[in-house]
Amino acid sequence: MDNIDKIALKAVTSIEFLSSKEIIQNRRISLKYSGHFNNYNGNIRYSKNIIQFNLSREWKNVDEDIQIGLLQSLIVKMTKLRSISTSEMKLYESFMKGLSKYAKKHDFDPQLEESYKRINERLFEGNIEKPNLVFASESFHKLGSYEYSTDTIYMSTIFKDLPDSEQKFLDYVMYHELLHKKHTFKIKNGRHQAHTTAFRHDERKFGMLESELNTWLRKKKYSLKRLLGF
Ligand SMILES: [Zn+2]
Repeated sequence: MDNIDKIALKAVTSIEFLSSKEIIQNRRISLKYSGHFNNYNGNIRYSKNIIQFNLSREWKNVDEDIQIGLLQSLIVKMTKLRSISTSEMKLYESFMKGLSKYAKKHDFDPQLEESYKRINERLFEGNIEKPNLVFASESFHKLGSYEYSTDTIYMSTIFKDLPDSEQKFLDYVMYHELLHKKHTFKIKNGRHQAHTTAFRHDERKFGMLESELNTWLRKKKYSLKRLLGF
């Protein structure tokens, strides 16, 4: 047995509830680091004969207990065994939250930077440190996202070069993503919970209805289609 497989075995057997169950019986438990993932991602494959963990290469250099916490989170998510929370899982959670503090800041799109400045002044009293700010692809359903491990906000390109009267829609999504940075997340039953009650409470401070944004999105989609001759 590989040394890294020992990490996997330890992760599985140290969840008390699991070790007594048949989940791990007769299954080969192993762990692989692979270049197929970005950042600190990973997954679990599970069949009659194996439990296979696959983690990004970055994990190789991370403390063993934190890795175990991730593996346990993956198991809990897979088996839907609620209410399991180990000390390693808590370590993993704080590790992921802490990553954004040490991420390199080097990518700032000027238009997004302006939006960030407006929101930071108006709604955070200037207290939110600037994350990386980049445009992603053109999407009408994924408007923006925040990646903790690199401290980066990705914004759909549909918000590029808006007239002044429409900047508020970009600002609204910017605010949402900055709230993710502020609130970080909780892990419950192996899932990341981000849109908590406190998050939604804060979100309303922007003073715009989601329906307003949706109406704008519909118009935008229509005008883009016409532009492209669909
Ligand atoms: Zn969100």
